[in-house]
Amino acid sequence: MKIEIAIKKACQELKKNKITSALLDSEILLSKVINKDRKFILLNFDRKLNQKDQDIFKNLILERSKGKPVAYLTGLKSFWNYNFKVNEKVLIPRPETEIIVEQVLKIYKNKDNLNFLEIGVGSGCISLSILKEKKSFLATGVDLSKDCIKICRYNANKLGVSNRIKLLKSDVDNLIFRKYDLIIANPPYIKKLDLSKLDRDVKNYEPKLALYGGLEGLSVIRKVIKKSSELIKKCGKLVLEIGYDQREPVKKMLNENNFYVNESLKDLAKNDRCIISTKK
Ligand code: GLN
Repeated sequence: MKIEIAIKKACQELKKNKITSALLDSEILLSKVINKDRKFILLNFDRKLNQKDQDIFKNLILERSKGKPVAYLTGLKSFWNYNFKVNEKVLIPRPETEIIVEQVLKIYKNKDNLNFLEIGVGSGCISLSILKEKKSFLATGVDLSKDCIKICRYNANKLGVSNRIKLLKSDVDNLIFRKYDLIIANPPYIKKLDLSKLDRDVKNYEPKLALYGGLEGLSVIRKVIKKSSELIKKCGKLVLEIGYDQREPVKKMLNENNFYVNESLKDLAKNDRCIISTKK
């Protein structure tokens, strides 16, 4: 079967199953099967696929039509300037989370030798991207999930920054020293009512541990703020990702824990997404 026909058939199958990005997804998945980039596919529509590749592709399309995210099927997701290995144990890096990286690089544009902590490091996309851009920074990443630490370690090695990040499978409660200039977190912040409203792909495949923030979605954020106020140096910064309706309650929590709120930022969809604060 020619590439053109295989893509067409795959597209039809995905559309039938309400996958809106059918063409792009088909191209990405076929690239994975034949180990070439998307450009190759677009330029070689007439090329024949062998039976084995056809079968593998068909299986991937079947999984995708059930809702499994492309990133879990390819095992990769690009974020900032880099590719991160992912699997079903880690949250897939989101473009809106790049705001955190962007803001940290802006705040510390002329600063070297910073020691930062990320609470809930996941795939490592935030911390590792920052380490790539700031060669004198040192990081610590904690996560409750052993699988996240494993993936993050792999990504750190791949990106050549593993000598500058300490990774701990631990609850943040186990950290005790007030030594961080900066703390970052993209904690689980989806509230109970919103959990069922998430996209099918997210709801059925991504780890609840990385998404669910309790009844109001604020349980983990509350803990992160409280603990950060103990771990952060005076005048250190806390940069948090938050849910669309959490700006005011989070501001209040920050004030109650001796943080001064610098600013809150919206993502491209105009939702509140990030809060920057400073420890008094
Ligand atoms: N932004 C993610 C989503 O809506 C949630 C990430 C999180 O809870 N930290 O799917």
